[in-house]
Amino acid sequence: MKNCPHCAKQLSFWDVLRAVNPASIPCGGCHKNITVNKKSAFTTAGVAVLVSIAICLAVQSAGLGMPILVASVVLLGLLLEVGYYLCLARGVIKSDLQ
Ligand SMILES: [Zn+2]
Repeated sequence: MKNCPHCAKQLSFWDVLRAVNPASIPCGGCHKNITVNKKSAFTTAGVAVLVSIAICLAVQSAGLGMPILVASVVLLGLLLEVGYYLCLARGVIKSDLQ
């Protein structure tokens, strides 16, 4: 797992979850921003949006209704956040974590 370049605290899932901008994640230890390679961050965000739209269309065309749609999107969002966190923490996505 990778650590903050400023205070050496390990990146936590919570840090990634509460980040508004996927390319700039505030460290939970020192509150300085951890910069993520912009191309990787926005490619990931773009894929997340496309997958969300695909899920919405699939749920809608299957006639499953709004509660299922909302549950699917929330679940998908969480899964994507976990995936993004793991990629960052393992260095699959380039950032200034050390
Ligand atoms: Zn830090």
